[in-house]
Amino acid sequence: MLQLKNIRKAYKTDDFTQVALDDVSVTFRDSEFVAILGPSGSGKTTMLNILGGLDHADSGEIVINGVSTRDYSSKDWDTYRNHRVGFVFQSYNLIPHQTVLSNVELALTLAGVGRAERRRRATEALAAVGLANHVRKRPAQLSGGQMQRVAIARALVNDPDIVLADEPTGALDTDTGIQVMNILRDVARDRLVVMVTHNPELAERYATRIVRVRDGRIVDDSDPIRADEPVAASLSPAGDAAQAPLPAGRTGEKDKGGRASMGFLTALSLSFNNLMTKKGRTFMTAFAGSIGIIGIAAILALSNGVNHYIARTEEGALSSYPLTITKSSFDFSKLMGYGMGDSGLGGTTGARSGAKRAKGSDDIPQRAIVTDMFAQVKSNDLGSFKTYLDAHRKKVGRYANAVEYDYDVTPQIYMADTSKGVTRLNPSSVASTLQGGVMGSALTGKSSSSGTFTQLV
Ligand code: ADP
Ligand code: MG
Repeated sequence: MLQLKNIRKAYKTDDFTQVALDDVSVTFRDSEFVAILGPSGSGKTTMLNILGGLDHADSGEIVINGVSTRDYSSKDWDTYRNHRVGFVFQSYNLIPHQTVLSNVELALTLAGVGRAERRRRATEALAAVGLANHVRKRPAQLSGGQMQRVAIARALVNDPDIVLADEPTGALDTDTGIQVMNILRDVARDRLVVMVTHNPELAERYATRIVRVRDGRIVDDSDPIRADEPVAASLSPAGDAAQAPLPAGRTGEKDKGGRASMGFLTALSLSFNNLMTKKGRTFMTAFAGSIGIIGIAAILALSNGVNHYIARTEEGALSSYPLTITKSSFDFSKLMGYGMGDSGLGGTTGARSGAKRAKGSDDIPQRAIVTDMFAQVKSNDLGSFKTYLDAHRKKVGRYANAVEYDYDVTPQIYMADTSKGVTRLNPSSVASTLQGGVMGSALTGKSSSSGTFTQLV
């Protein structure tokens, strides 16, 4: 039993308020065929949507099987819509890319019914509306009347208590409209069918009760619930959902309170199907997505490359300050230390060598500066060093930009033309000394021998 109590609904647009339903109260029996009749814009669709839980009223109350929906959560509404109500729309609302069978199955999929069971029940429902031979077709391959019958099969496959139909024959010619009406009349034998129409002939011919609406108000009801009717009993506060009279045979047949749910795999395959039917769009989306990803990758690659390049340039710049290893070396800092340690100023660097003077003694200290200086000259075994470098080319290459060996052999080059006397070109006796030195150190990073000719790196 379905009841509307003082329902009001208004639509606000900018500065204008359109009252769609104005204090509507009506009670429907569990099994009847109600036609809601009224001119266009009188609030019929709004009323149907509120009955089906597709829309909510501004004020008033819907009572379903004696239970107020005031405290319904959105989950409760989902359950109600999925398990108790079937919808039939004027425009069929079928999914174009799925077969007739899948369209009907979808209602069961949403309700969480298993695959084999789904198929069986959908086939049965389609057979019941006379479409057993069309299950493999797509909606576009059907006539309007056939599409509406598919929609009715879809509404019925869940075996709902209530079927709501919004101008189901509105888009159909008279003959097919009559077919659809006949089916709905059969459906209404053991459940509530509420049909919206603006066609009084159809309403009078098929419906068992006609509710006329005008400007959002009920102006006439051909068969209102009488006070002494048994169904009215469940209106009393004592009546609860369990006692509400449900049509025999369907009560308890399945769990009407079950939640709407869908298996993960089912959801996945539905999504996949959907993607496959819109190949172009799927491809474009994937393409656009990959442009983003490729763009990010390109930017990262570029910045990485630039960083690398900067690091290499920095290293290259440092090569003009090379590490020079000479055959013999001399530590200047130690030499500086001698004088300081001796004068006793700080004893920092020169403390461990140089003058030794016993305290309180009159001995005159001796400073062996020159001897010590030459003792500091160390000689390096460059031969074995080169052998090492040659043997570990790879390892050395990781840390060195270039290795240059300088043998300190200056080629002696003379002009072939000796008519003006013998002229030496390298090492030049005059200007090239300076020039070669500067050029050499700038290019190779080493102080080259003062020659016009220098070795390659
Ligand atoms: P019917 O189905 O009887 O033709 P509706 O219930 O669709 O009428 O609409 C009733 C009134 O409410 C109309 O005046 C309509 O313009 C208005 N209406 C319906 N839906 C909306 C909406 N979403 N926004 C604004 N006004 C609406
Ligand atoms: Mg309408």
